[in-house]
Amino acid sequence: MTGRIALFQPDVGPLEESFLLRAFRSGWPGPAGPETEAFEAEIAGRAGVRHAVGVSSGTAALHLALLACGAGPGTVVVVPTLTFAATANAAVYTGARPVFVDSDPATGNVDPDLLADLLDRLAAADERVAAVMAVDLNGTCADYSRLRPVCRAAGVPLVEDAAQALGSTHEGQPAGSFGSLGTFSFSWNKVITTSAGGMVVTDDAALAARCRHLSTQAREPVTHYEHRDVGYNYRLSNLLAAVGRAQLRRLDEMIERRRRLRERYAKLFAAVPGTRIVGDGDPGANCWLTSVLVDPEVAGWGAGHLGRHLARRGVETRPMWKPMHRQPVFAGHDAVVTGVADRLFARSVSLPSGSSLTDADAERLFAALDEFLEERG
Ligand SMILES: *Cc1c(COP(=O)(O)O)cnc(C)c1O
Repeated sequence: MTGRIALFQPDVGPLEESFLLRAFRSGWPGPAGPETEAFEAEIAGRAGVRHAVGVSSGTAALHLALLACGAGPGTVVVVPTLTFAATANAAVYTGARPVFVDSDPATGNVDPDLLADLLDRLAAADERVAAVMAVDLNGTCADYSRLRPVCRAAGVPLVEDAAQALGSTHEGQPAGSFGSLGTFSFSWNKVITTSAGGMVVTDDAALAARCRHLSTQAREPVTHYEHRDVGYNYRLSNLLAAVGRAQLRRLDEMIERRRRLRERYAKLFAAVPGTRIVGDGDPGANCWLTSVLVDPEVAGWGAGHLGRHLARRGVETRPMWKPMHRQPVFAGHDAVVTGVADRLFARSVSLPSGSSLTDADAERLFAALDEFLEERG
């Protein structure tokens, strides 16, 4: 047995190195420069929106997007309960009160019917809802055909957390473009990485300008240092943006590799009763992460059994995210819970999904899966 097969593996090489060196040698090592601006234009193009603001992380992008919507003390932000904590943390940073909402069983993404009921109840209670957040889990877009009319009817802006979904589409439209604002992450384990970084995207020039302003310490455009707002030091480094530009050139190829891996998993589990791939059958998904849902009563084994078997074979797995309404830090916050997210957490196993998985590691991984399924089948 050779090294451990990780859930995510960075996929960077000579192209990224050459872009980084070129930026370094250009003499502008500071935050935001020509590489940042070029990367913003390229991401805006890819997401099909007019404006993009490069920032230091996906979390910073979410924070700015929510501030631009007016989230703050005395307001509510609706947050999907099944997500990475950054989504909920960003709401709390603004001083808004997060209210959690449960998932659609097929994808784990926010359930549009629950959302509609919740927005009705919040309106009846005279709550000011600053934003609804939707997350494109594992790279599968939320159901925007239904979510957008719900938000529009309630007069509440939608913020799309597309951290995991760069390059995905929903009915042909690119991820990031569905809300008033969308956000991406370029953390090391995302579809493309700048090692650390993120972006806010929007069609609205005023919202983009607001995010840009807040990301640079809210410094007014005068020569002396003038500040009317509390700002943040959130700009994306010019050097890191150069790495992102190299990654973006390889995005389609990297997504293709993730898709092929997903197809191979899907084919294997299609023959195993009581299992399914979360979000399976979505042709627009970038397949950032593949999670298998296991019904132990039908399969005769549980997600934990598979996870432990793979761990013994040197393969890393983990469940989908522990829902926010179960997190000690968010105890006591309101939540609309049906049990779907709890079930996805308890019964899922996320499998290695990186675009740089070698053929040899893939063979080892699928041999370990075959071995488990033969023992249990
Ligand atoms: C990764 C991620 C974030 C945070 O991005 P960072 O760049 O790590 O700050 C936010 N939301 C979701 C859904 C994520 O997966």
